[in-house]
Amino acid sequence: MQVQQMVYSKDDSFRKTNYTIENSVDRYSDRMACLNYLITEIRYVWGYITLQKLLNLVKLKISYGVSVFFRRPLQWGLPASIAIEPTSVCNLACPECPSGNGSLIRRRGNISWSLFTKCVNELKNHLLSATLYFQGEPFLNPHIFEMIAYLKRMRIYSITSTNAQFLSPKNCDKLVKSGLNRIIVSLDGTDQKSYAKYRIGGSYSKVIEGIQNLVAAKKSQRKKQPVIYLQFLVFRHNEHQVKEVKQLGRQLGVDKVSIKAPQVYDPEQNNNMLTSIPKYTRYQKNENGQYQLKGKLKNKCWRSWQNPVITVDGALLPCCFDKDARYTYGNIKNSDIQQMWTSKNAIQFKKTILKNRSQFDICRNCTEGIKYMH
Ligand code: SF4
Repeated sequence: MQVQQMVYSKDDSFRKTNYTIENSVDRYSDRMACLNYLITEIRYVWGYITLQKLLNLVKLKISYGVSVFFRRPLQWGLPASIAIEPTSVCNLACPECPSGNGSLIRRRGNISWSLFTKCVNELKNHLLSATLYFQGEPFLNPHIFEMIAYLKRMRIYSITSTNAQFLSPKNCDKLVKSGLNRIIVSLDGTDQKSYAKYRIGGSYSKVIEGIQNLVAAKKSQRKKQPVIYLQFLVFRHNEHQVKEVKQLGRQLGVDKVSIKAPQVYDPEQNNNMLTSIPKYTRYQKNENGQYQLKGKLKNKCWRSWQNPVITVDGALLPCCFDKDARYTYGNIKNSDIQQMWTSKNAIQFKKTILKNRSQFDICRNCTEGIKYMH
């Protein structure tokens, strides 16, 4: 009706107005969905918070604030979140992923149960959440369901991310039973051709069926979790499908569709992959016509103060951008996380971040602290 009232004499202007209205309705429903999702998530996370975890978070925040203010690293508290790598092996060959494209120099394999439990046991009183994902496809580790169930028993909010090639009805049933809180499903296309351009070796229909299986398993077990995020990385070849994937997500019954700008290791070399829609890219051309990160790098990093990574071999890393464990603080096979967290290596790393973050190659191509999607 509103559209009818705004008809202009020229056809083109009509179409333009029509499109704007559709967009604002879309934005409104996006915002409502976002609000709904936020309220639900806060309700879920709330059940995992304890006074000790809250106090730890306060310590982290204070020590981070003081460090940034005085430009000297001070680390109080233990990690509030952690990413643990279930496996470094992957079944797909995505070109910008070191595991998929074969450039990862670390050992390919699964984390042992003893390393996994050592890590969780050491941090369980402080962790708000644990992400079972780093490099590799988590569902290739046969113990993934037990790992999630263990986090549940330790009262830690669990998250994982998958290419959804293994979400069979049986696995989805086990997944819902395990008590997983959130799952991120990668789907960067709304048809096989567009999807497999980046997810090389992947099957679009398997992802769709996998999501349907998961939604059905939640329904049959009368569970609201895991919350399902559908994640769409925007490239040049799929940028026209952003709207479509939002609709697809709604039809499939996922809880959130997350549109993300991908990280590209060499934006100059691979600029043909980058989307032409500015709001969906991390990069822009500088005055010399070269691609660089949007925004200005700030010499600070909250992530490295509270959200480290443990690799399949037990190396403790500052963050998930250190794919090949080049900036490791130490190894949980030989040391406690508490010791490594304030070790010489860790303090030196944070000192450099506060002084000049661009000294680290991983930090130069990292959007931590930069707003790039407007
Ligand atoms: S790459 Fe550097 S700036 Fe980015 S999260 Fe890691 S430590 Fe922080």
